Amino acid sequence: MKYLIGYDIGGTKIELVILEFKSKKIIYKKRVPTERERGYRNILSKVSGLFREALLKTQITPKQINSIGFALPGSVQNEIMIRGNTQVLEGKPIKKDLQKILRFKSLYFENDANCFALAEHTLGVGKRLKARSSVGIILGTGMGSGMIIADKIFSGKRGTAGEIGHIPISGHSIKCYCGQKDCSELYLSGPGFKSYVQKYIQKHAKSDESAEILISKYKGLYKKILAKQIAATINFLDPDYVVLGGGISRNHFLYKGLNQLVRPHLFVRKSAPPILKHKISDSAGSVGAALLAVYRKKN
Ligand SMILES: [Zn+2]
Repeated sequence: MKYLIGYDIGGTKIELVILEFKSKKIIYKKRVPTERERGYRNILSKVSGLFREALLKTQITPKQINSIGFALPGSVQNEIMIRGNTQVLEGKPIKKDLQKILRFKSLYFENDANCFALAEHTLGVGKRLKARSSVGIILGTGMGSGMIIADKIFSGKRGTAGEIGHIPISGHSIKCYCGQKDCSELYLSGPGFKSYVQKYIQKHAKSDESAEILISKYKGLYKKILAKQIAATINFLDPDYVVLGGGISRNHFLYKGLNQLVRPHLFVRKSAPPILKHKISDSAGSVGAALLAVYRKKN
């Protein structure tokens, strides 16, 4: 038996999954907190600890492992994370370091939204639709997207393709950490929408409601902004479908009537691609990472 291992190294948790090579079924899964404030070396030792524990518990030997993939929370170029929200990972020689620590050569690295899109395309929504190209949008503490073109991840020349969260919309001139104003992440990520509503919609009302509550309270407004942004990706790429992931995507109300909101912003309105909820559990990032060696990317 051969196996694929995938990690999702996020800002809050690190997850490892083991897939059986042929069936691509998850046979093992474990998650630990990232504790990014404790630094880069601590993340490496958590990755290593998860690896040793997984082999011990499953009785799989390193020889049975085909490859190990890593989903990283940022733009990945030449297997180095060049920009992202977990800054302790930026610019670090993570491949070299992990090859040494894990004593394993065949390692792959990719942006987490790209891994999410790949997992859904291959084993989730895309499998059912027999799709060839798709867009996966993650709506959570940030906003990102991954593109699949002809069944392969497309991450661009510099690994920055799909940064939909930093395409500006018309808004209130809110400053983004990237240096621009009105990036869509400032309106559509959980923390972004919360501060937008508190500052511009509720104005002087005192409120400490969570992002989740505010999104359900102002769902019409949220969906209107989201629909415009989704329409932009459809006008640009014309994918077979758009799939939503991340914490916010679990809300069923998001999908009701979303297509009708998207349609007026499309260049061709007759046949819009479906906008769907993710099918794979919240392990899509690590599952996609495990698949990286099998579906090599296109660039
Ligand atoms: Zn920005």
